[in-house]
Amino acid sequence: MDLMEYQAKELFAEHGVPVTLGIVATTPEEARAAAEKLGVVVVKAQVKAGGRGKAGGVKLAKTPDEAFEHATAILGMTIKDLPVHRVLIAPAASIEEEYYFSFLLDRANRRYLCIASVEGGVEIEEVAKTNPHAVKQIPVDPGTGVDEEKARAIVAEAGFPAPLTDQAVALVQALWRVFVEEDATLVEVNPLARLEGDVLEALDGKVSLDDNADFRHEDHAVFEMKDETDPLEAKAKEKGLNYVKLDGEVGIIGNGAGLVMSTLDVVAYAGERHGGVKPANFLDIGGGANAQVMADGLDVILGDDQVRAVFVNVFGGITACDEVANGIKGALEILGDHATKPLVVRLDGNNVDKGRAILEELGHPLVTQVDTMDGAADKAAELAGA
Ligand code: GDP
Ligand code: MN
Repeated sequence: MDLMEYQAKELFAEHGVPVTLGIVATTPEEARAAAEKLGVVVVKAQVKAGGRGKAGGVKLAKTPDEAFEHATAILGMTIKDLPVHRVLIAPAASIEEEYYFSFLLDRANRRYLCIASVEGGVEIEEVAKTNPHAVKQIPVDPGTGVDEEKARAIVAEAGFPAPLTDQAVALVQALWRVFVEEDATLVEVNPLARLEGDVLEALDGKVSLDDNADFRHEDHAVFEMKDETDPLEAKAKEKGLNYVKLDGEVGIIGNGAGLVMSTLDVVAYAGERHGGVKPANFLDIGGGANAQVMADGLDVILGDDQVRAVFVNVFGGITACDEVANGIKGALEILGDHATKPLVVRLDGNNVDKGRAILEELGHPLVTQVDTMDGAADKAAELAGA
């Protein structure tokens, strides 16, 4: 789960990273009231996307009326297709220099990585291209993490100005606590600002939390914003399904993430022959493909208006094909009239003959069986393209 700036800053504050929290507003009136309390402010769009500043989503307001005006404009914007429902009203800071700092999970090297630059914060991608030496990449050993000594080494390598050294060392350790104690995969500060009077402060914050660690962070549930998540994804999550909505017409259900991923590829490829139809989603129903899980999965997929056909691609393993076939049968009973779109089913693996016989016997008008994955993908794409 990615957090919005104001949420990231709340976590920063809890772990001792210097930030100014500000006030979140959902209407221009609230923005004005916040500015009356805070004085000169910055009105900042709260969306899960970078580059808000460039998109016009970060504006300085010298008076409450100006805050009202900027909030009116920003609350009516979309940034990278995301509608802005909230603005953060933050006391304006007077910035002398901007730096970049992040910790992230470096999957390829099975460790963590710190990226830091003291050469301007905003255009870090640009700096990385034009002046790669100014962007320091410092590996962090997961076994030892970031203690004070490591923090000092990071600060020295990044090249923070001498008057900021001690603040930077403390800040790096605090950010590391956010990263580890909150189970984040990314903690980014851009800009990390040197304010008037040599004060270091995180003016922006980006945090991605590892959903696999949700079970030990009940307090993270408050970060989930129902109005910002796709309704189908929200429904799938409620039912414990591993679902990601995509922009296409062929619904996909499979067992096992690897199989589902390759199904997406095969369907996308087959779709080129049928008017360019594409996969509508990723849905892995995992090992236990019983009737309820199958019904839940189909229910979510059929709720997607864009879907015109569904491809159920199952390789029977521990859960054998006959169980899956009974799951499909049961799901169709549970869904009744709600099942309205053609299903192409490909069963293979353990007890395949029994499984296919069950669906054969069922003779449901919406169900077509195809023996091979390529053949089934082609059939599903054909039905969705028609
Ligand atoms: P982003 O564009 O989505 O990364 O949003 P940021 O929060 O990083 O804001 C963009 C830019 O606005 C920053 O790099 C700063 O230059 C500027 N900015 C943000 N907050 C303040 C502030 O409090 N005072 C001033 N003067 N500028 C700010
Ligand atoms: Mn930023």
